Amino acid sequence: MKIVMLGAPGAGKGTQAKMIASSYGLPHVSTGDIFRANVKGGTPLGLEAKTYMDKGELVPDELTVRILLDRVAQEDCKNGYVLDGFPRTIPQAEVLDAELTKLGEKIDYAIDVEVPDENIVKRMSGRRACVNCGATYHIVHIPPKKEGICDACGSELILRDDDKEETVKNRLAIYHQQTQPLIDFYSNKGVLKEVDGTKDSAEVFEDIKKILG
Ligand code: ADP
Ligand code: AMP
Repeated sequence: MKIVMLGAPGAGKGTQAKMIASSYGLPHVSTGDIFRANVKGGTPLGLEAKTYMDKGELVPDELTVRILLDRVAQEDCKNGYVLDGFPRTIPQAEVLDAELTKLGEKIDYAIDVEVPDENIVKRMSGRRACVNCGATYHIVHIPPKKEGICDACGSELILRDDDKEETVKNRLAIYHQQTQPLIDFYSNKGVLKEVDGTKDSAEVFEDIKKILG
């Protein structure tokens, strides 16, 4: 099963992708997580990606596509995966589609998590991410057991630099311009499914399970 998560930054793609991954035994592939791991490790890829991420811009397609195709070619992805944060542009979706077609495969579901813009800034300012394992929380909606500490690994939780209000506004504008057209792209392929992302995260997951069966 190959799944693409669509939705604005902060819509809850990562939250749902992790739940799908653990329930259905699929790897969770997040290009944002891959870039952040490289930024943390100070790799050349990380240094390049950081210049775009800090401004809330997209990392160029050529680089992003290469990273993603390398990742999905790994052994653990052979029975499927949940893509979170990729594709984010039509050219990225077209390359993925072409690569899958070569293998006689396709995306089975594109799940669009719908949340209006006015909710997004609030969500992002409350998001906290683990510096070590990348787990995400929300200070009000999905709080960790102990404030500021990751439930999963005990490390510190931080506000991501790109979750500051001005950067979030830029990310939202870029989302509408470059990523939202993917909704039509996957709708035309007959695989688009929409869920109401304003519901509680457990309820959103119930709706997704009904779709995936
Ligand atoms: P994305 O991966 O789409 O950028 P996240 O999954 O990181 O979004 O969610 C953004 C923020 O909103 C996080 O702080 C997360 O804990 C919180 N969140 C996720 N789903 C919900 C929900 N259904 N209701 C309220 N807050 C949510
Ligand atoms: P995310 O964690 O998905 O919100 O991604 C964080 C940042 O990483 C984005 O704001 C982009 O700068 C970069 N990024 C992640 N995925 C992509 C992608 N598919 N294309 C371009 N840039 C990306």
